[in-house]
Amino acid sequence: MLSLSRWRQTRILLIGASAMGMDSSMDKDIGCETTRKRRHVTVVGAGIVGINCALQAVKSGHVVVVLDREAPGQGCSFGNAGLIARSSFVPLSSPRILAEVPKWLLDPLGPLAIRWTYLPRLIPWLVRFVRAGNLKQVHQTAAALQTLTDPSVELYQQLAKEAGVGSLVRASDYIYVFETKKAFAKAAFDMELREQLGVRVERLRGGEVRDLEPTLADHFKFAYRLLDHGFTVDPEGLVKSLADHFRRLGGDIRRCEVKDAEFGPRDVTALITDDGRLETDVVVLAAGAYSGPLARTFGVTVPLDTERGYHVTLPDPGVMPKRPVMSGERKFLVTPMAMGLRFAGTVEFGGVVAPANYARARALLALGGHMFPGIRTDGYSEWMGLRPTLPDSLPVIGSSPKFDNVIFAFGHQHIGLTAAPKTAQIIAELIDGRTPNVDIRPFRPNRF
Ligand SMILES: Cc1cc2nc3c(=O)[nH]c(=O)nc-3n(C[C@H](O)[C@H](O)[C@H](O)COP(=O)(O)OP(=O)(O)OC[C@H]3O[C@@H](n4cnc5c(N)ncnc54)[C@H](O)[C@@H]3O)c2cc1C
Repeated sequence: MLSLSRWRQTRILLIGASAMGMDSSMDKDIGCETTRKRRHVTVVGAGIVGINCALQAVKSGHVVVVLDREAPGQGCSFGNAGLIARSSFVPLSSPRILAEVPKWLLDPLGPLAIRWTYLPRLIPWLVRFVRAGNLKQVHQTAAALQTLTDPSVELYQQLAKEAGVGSLVRASDYIYVFETKKAFAKAAFDMELREQLGVRVERLRGGEVRDLEPTLADHFKFAYRLLDHGFTVDPEGLVKSLADHFRRLGGDIRRCEVKDAEFGPRDVTALITDDGRLETDVVVLAAGAYSGPLARTFGVTVPLDTERGYHVTLPDPGVMPKRPVMSGERKFLVTPMAMGLRFAGTVEFGGVVAPANYARARALLALGGHMFPGIRTDGYSEWMGLRPTLPDSLPVIGSSPKFDNVIFAFGHQHIGLTAAPKTAQIIAELIDGRTPNVDIRPFRPNRF
């Protein structure tokens, strides 16, 4: 049994600023140098978002337990493309993307697919998605997402160093490559929006592309080079290393599935799991694509769906680009990693239950050969992951409107790795009752 009733005896302690290696500047923020409420925080979900939230909370001096039915980093955070995508704040729904959708849907193994049996359930989500694609909202969403993505590279460099795994995170540029001038020109809107928000973008043509990245095939004649990005060479390893660091700071991680909760008038008093009951002061819901039903239990209904994505990883490709490379036409990302060369991307709507269609992953193999001549694919591994996505491309970050001690941190779509550390700082501020230093109103749980 997980019953931790003895926790409640010590629920509110006054602790010193140096406890658990916390940052004493946080106490200065609330004008209180020496005291703060120590709370029992339960984080649901040991993906990159949950583990980052747990780590920040334990560093703030709280008693933190993470619950997950699997080991850390086995969900969507296992197999992503590893890009610390500082400038990926352009929302998924935009006039340009919506114009491409009909063409993409004609190719069953192309960048976008819908399982047609799932379409009736998806239609309300799609309607909201299309509505969010107007120019005014695109600019507002980009500005909101940038508050999460902008500090990502520095935050990860610092976190990885603290965790003793600095080599897992690399600062880098990243390139979008194109075969046709037409596709290159169509991407100009996204790139100009990035530049308006301060991102440094270079335009490369002809031989300049291959001079920068000689592994690419000759037919890639156009590229945008985005500076000041980063990547991890091992997304699963990064989650596990941060989880180990969290444990070393006194955090606890348990394997169980959260099924339900017990409630007081304005708070959740305990979580019910398949391994017993756990009393808690604060709940942080970071269960990725599975967060919808639990969010409903905790007082809010959100139109969360999943964009299923795929990867193949080649252990001995014989070709290793120096930096992450995005195919501008086919919308997949290639990242040099510790375990090989990873091709990741594509979007498939089909819900959380349907089995994977690995033909979509294998389609990336052929595209890889087209991009990097002579590439070896022997021994490749394939994977499918569930991106948690709201139709307005914004995550849900904030307190439950119904239960004061429940905080949401899910729905980070294509940028969950990138946005996790800043999300975690916000969650730590909310746990402490402080006002986050960025505007979190765009992420509010009851916006739908
Ligand atoms: C192909 C692909 C490429 C991507 N590339 C990038 C990239 O380059 N850069 C980037 O920033 N992002 C990328 N992403 C997105 C990123 O991987 C996700 O946004 C991120 O992993 C989501 O993290 P999470 O912690 O919210 O969810 P998850 O990693 O899925 O973690 C959620 C956890 O909650 C647990 N859980 C769920 N329900 C319960 C329950 N009831 N009880 C207990 N545990 C529960 C699950 O077991 C899981 O471990 C990519 C995604 C895909 C699919």
